Amino acid sequence: MSEAYLLAEPLYRIMLEQCREKAPVEACGLLGGPGPDKGARIFPLENLDNCAESYRMSPQDILSTMRQLDEENMELNAIYHSHPATQAYPSGVDTAKAYMDVVYLILSLRDKEPVLRGFRIHEGEIREVTVTITTGDGEVNVN
Ligand SMILES: [Zn+2]
Repeated sequence: MSEAYLLAEPLYRIMLEQCREKAPVEACGLLGGPGPDKGARIFPLENLDNCAESYRMSPQDILSTMRQLDEENMELNAIYHSHPATQAYPSGVDTAKAYMDVVYLILSLRDKEPVLRGFRIHEGEIREVTVTITTGDGEVNVN
């Protein structure tokens, strides 16, 4: 069974812009939607690590994002971050720190064309999720 995650194109643009702006430091944020497999809201957040090889979001930012999604009957369903100089695959630290039941999206800026891939990570086991960027109805919510 292969899983899928759909990301609205305007949200992907925002993510890409944020990641390019922050490079060579990693950028990060959250995505939410009406179910577990569709990104309809994006919340670019601050990387507290301010580091080229790791990211960390503040618990307050995560909580307020979840509250906002809750008010719209949506759920937090993905965590994204950039890899400014490496491939779009979870690092050892990414894998070790993944504790939420969400899709982990990684946007690599290593090559000329950006590469976005998604994964579910459970107890150190990595499973790839097919990520599709959709055009059309995605709403944008930038804090
Ligand atoms: Zn990473």
